[in-house]
Parts: sequence; structure tokens; C-alpha cells
Amino acid sequence: MYEKVFELIESRKDQLISDASELIGVPSVNPGQFEKEAAAAFAAQLKRDGINHEIVGPEPLRLSVLADLNGDAEGGVLFNGHLDVVPTGDEAKWTSPPFKAEVRDGRLYGRGSTDMKGAVNAFMHAMVAVRDAGVPLKKGVWLHAVADEECGGRMGTAWIADTGRLPPADMGIVGECSTYEGEVGIVRACTGIVQLKFESRGKASHAARPHEGNNAVINMCRVMIALQDKYERDTTVYDELLPPNTISPATTIKGGVKTNVIPDYCEAEVDIRVVPNMTPENVRAKIDKIIADVKAEHPEVDVTYTMGHWDPETLVPADAPVIKEAEKAVEKVMGYKPKHMKRSGTTDARFLNPKGIPSPVAFGPGDVVLGKMHDVDESVGVQDLINWSKIYAAMIISVCS
Ligand SMILES: [Zn+2]
Repeated sequence: MYEKVFELIESRKDQLISDASELIGVPSVNPGQFEKEAAAAFAAQLKRDGINHEIVGPEPLRLSVLADLNGDAEGGVLFNGHLDVVPTGDEAKWTSPPFKAEVRDGRLYGRGSTDMKGAVNAFMHAMVAVRDAGVPLKKGVWLHAVADEECGGRMGTAWIADTGRLPPADMGIVGECSTYEGEVGIVRACTGIVQLKFESRGKASHAARPHEGNNAVINMCRVMIALQDKYERDTTVYDELLPPNTISPATTIKGGVKTNVIPDYCEAEVDIRVVPNMTPENVRAKIDKIIADVKAEHPEVDVTYTMGHWDPETLVPADAPVIKEAEKAVEKVMGYKPKHMKRSGTTDARFLNPKGIPSPVAFGPGDVVLGKMHDVDESVGVQDLINWSKIYAAMIISVCS
């Protein structure tokens, strides 16, 4: 069964590369032109290959494509990949135009090749091959090609999750890059993030009469230094791959208008990385206590803050079924076990895990070292795409048939 499916994927190699090239040719830049045209192009490919799908989205330009095989089933696997891409940077620095895909020395070049239109087509060709080989499916296979991953995901996977459009899948695969110098890996863990904005209010006066004013910048500094020195980080080791949490106060700070004026306003930002057992409530309680202690010593301090969106950590245990299935699939295709890895940046997996679909951070084509994602001359190995399509197909056969 596996061999037949793998042969079908090999036989459609040119089609896979031509499909990925077509998607790369649509400049779905976020922010910018957005995903509407890319969603239409991908939907046309699905239609050509007879895969059931619909186009959905919260706004006319912010569209995602939801496709499935045997989508009425309970359980199975959900594949997730994004259709948006980051801006090109200086186009003059690209060897070939970023939105005109080109194969050179066995690599497919173009913006979105590795991050991650290549993965979207690898998913799709896995589904087509499984169906064409006549693999009987007991469970469902879903493919979400989504909008807005590069700018927070609120218009894509988060919207799909919040509007009840996630399927009853047993596990999820987000096909972001997890290949390192040609070796296939699996990213199991990354910290979450919350960003805070602090405001300090004081009183302006002439700098020659500072006692008549109240310096909002100095007050802000007292609070930022207290956060740096007094905030107790959670140093629990939850998993060997999950870094302990961090706090970085004053990553930005703005205040003051003129050298001879005592500033009456200052704002600063703080970046906190999130691990299990941290909640908005217990983080607030720690910060409130630190500000209160500063104020007890310096009553002139008037600092408030707002907390941004709370993005939880992604942590899938090494023995979770999705990790075991991913390992089995890599062994089948590559002949070795994938390395388990961590990553600092988060992916759309953070929207799937809280909804009961265990999904590692990243498991997909694209080479973190060679692929140059978000850089000029982004590329993906042609054979990598074929191998990954086989890996996804092997997962479908094992999980769903
Ligand atoms: Zn990406």
C-alpha cells in the first residue's frame, strides 16, 4: 500500500513542482495584497484533482481554503499550512524574481517556497495519491490552507478555530520548516508569548525647576528596573525542549520632548515568554505587586499597563501519538528517526492545541538553515518536497486507514 502511494507521488513530481510554482507566482504578501488570489489558485488545483473543498474567511481579502478526504468521519489528521508570505525585502537582491518560481540546482526558488506554499502542495499531493491508490479511509483527512499566519493568525487559523470550523481530528500537523541541513526533524516545543504596554504619567515643568515637575521617564525606569530585578520567573523544567520563561522589560521606551522640559509621559513595552502554569492572572498579580512596592518607596510613581494577547506555549510530549506517528512516517520514507527540536518562534499550532488537536510546532519541508525563509533567495529542495509529500501520505495511511 505504501509503495503504491509513494510511486504515485513520484510520478506526479512535475505536477507538484508546477503547482507550488503557481502558488509562488501569486504575491500573497501579508501585510499587502493578502491571500484572496492565492486561495483561488489553490482551490482551482483542488478542483482539478477532485478534492472536496470550500473557501472561507472573515473578510473578502482574507480567505482560507478548507479541503478534506472522507471529511464526515470522526478522528483523523488535520494538515495546516499558510498561504500568506512575508514581504520580499529588496527585490534587486534576489537572483531570480521572488514571485517567478525557478528551479536551480535541484532547489525551487521564490517567496513562499519554503514558508510555506511548498508544504501546502505536499499535503495536497499526499491526499491525492492516497485517494488514487484506493487506500480505504476509516478516518478523516483535512487540509487547511490558511490566511494570516505571518501577522498573528487572527484572520486565519485563529478565526477558523474560534468559529467552530476545526474538524474532529485526533492530531494536527503544521507544515512549517523542520528540516536542518537536509535532515528531517520535528519541532515539539516552543514558549508562548505575551507583550505588555506600560504608561507612566508625571508632570511637566522647566528642567531648571525639576522639583515643580514629576519625571515620568525616571518613574518608568524605576518600574522597569524593578521588573528586571524582582520578577520571579517560573524556572520549572516542563520538558527538556521547552526553555524556561523569560521577561524582557523596556524592549522599547519612549518619552520626553525636549532637553529642558521634565517629561510628563513615557511609554515602554515588555516581552514575556510563557510556559505552562503561567496565566494572565498570576502574571498580573506578580507585576501589580512589583509596581505597588515601587510606589511604596516612591509615591510619585504613576505607572499602569495593559496586557496584549496571550499566546500559550506549544508543547507536545515526546510520547504523544502524533509524535509517534510522525516518527514512524519519517522512518518509513527516510530510513531514520527525526530529531526532536525546539524553536523560539511560534506557529499556528498554538491555536490547535488548546482546541484539543495535539499539534507539534513544526513538521514540514523547508530547511531552517538552507531555505532562507523570510530572507532573499528563499528556496526549498525539490526532492525535499517529494519526500515530505510521502511522509504526509505515510501518516495518512497509518492514522486514517
Ligand atoms: Zn510560515
